[in-house]
Amino acid sequence: MKAAIVTEAGAAIEIVSDLEIDQPRTGEALIAIDACGVCGSDLSLLTGKMAHPTPMVLGHEACGTVVALGPDTDGPAAGERVILWMRPPCRTCRMCIRGQGELCEHSGRMSAYGTLLDGRTGFTRSGGDVFRALGIGAFTERLVMPVSGLVPVPDDVPTDVAALLGCGVATGAGAVINVARPQAGDVVVVLGGGGVGQAAAMAAAASSAGAIVVVDPVEERRRQALDLGATHAVEGGDPKALRNQVKAALGDPWIDVVIEAVGRPELVATAHRVVRQGGTVVAVGVQASDSVVALPGQQVALSHKRILGCFMGGIDPQRDMPKLFDLYRRGVLPLDRLITARRPLDEAAAALDDLAHARGLRTVLETGS
Ligand SMILES: [Zn+2]
Ligand SMILES: [Zn+2]
Repeated sequence: MKAAIVTEAGAAIEIVSDLEIDQPRTGEALIAIDACGVCGSDLSLLTGKMAHPTPMVLGHEACGTVVALGPDTDGPAAGERVILWMRPPCRTCRMCIRGQGELCEHSGRMSAYGTLLDGRTGFTRSGGDVFRALGIGAFTERLVMPVSGLVPVPDDVPTDVAALLGCGVATGAGAVINVARPQAGDVVVVLGGGGVGQAAAMAAAASSAGAIVVVDPVEERRRQALDLGATHAVEGGDPKALRNQVKAALGDPWIDVVIEAVGRPELVATAHRVVRQGGTVVAVGVQASDSVVALPGQQVALSHKRILGCFMGGIDPQRDMPKLFDLYRRGVLPLDRLITARRPLDEAAAALDDLAHARGLRTVLETGS
């Protein structure tokens, strides 16, 4: 099979055609990948900013079609389209029982070790294991997935939109809907106008936030933000500059919620600085493995500001995907407009280069053979 792989962190992407794939076992399905979004985490995995076992097949934001189920396995029927979910809730561990399936103690090993639930990778090349980026590895034609990680896609949701719901859009929208939970009329500032940030801004609009300010130094992204639902867009800078820009835009520097959707420690500190007393900061951008956030210690307590982490948008696929599909259908979350390029799998390196240089919002690799 053809695949886009990374042999070691920092190496260039290689397109290979000799990846071999395992048969699905009980509880698993064989999936033909149709589309896979190119996410910021792919870039972090490629450069080594995010530590991960190698060699690996990149790609984790995917929609595919069920080809076959493993023996004695119940799941979506062959021919059904599914989103691949990297943290399928087991429904039995302490986290799942608490309603925090995004932190499932069992499926966490998939993304941490780049494997399936049973510890094997399901991919080999020249006899050696090839790991799965964040437990998926969808820059390829086919792969094996646990059926618990398959989310059926309704007929009226396009395949490429469904792919984005596998990571970036779910993460950005979930950060607002499940974690920040702005009140009607709140001022929401989103740091970062990439795919995750734009999805967060769309979700803030769907939540009846008052003003939605997207902050990005790239003019094109500010223009896109205004197109997609933000009420204002500014270029940002240090906390004082950002506060002044918000004041100039809204007449007041008051900010209720800040979503950090870039993954840089100094931006989390900026968010904490600019949000109002008692306001909420949601850190959703994934930082480098060795990153440290510096905050003014006294203000952590005295300001009563909340800093909340957010993984995969706190999304439970069974609970939340029907809502996201519906918001898309009603035009409240125009997710199709986040897709600014489509490329064949062979052009994975060019797609990641676009992302590294903030060209466009989301590229979808059309991986179907
Ligand atoms: Zn669990
Ligand atoms: Zn991602």
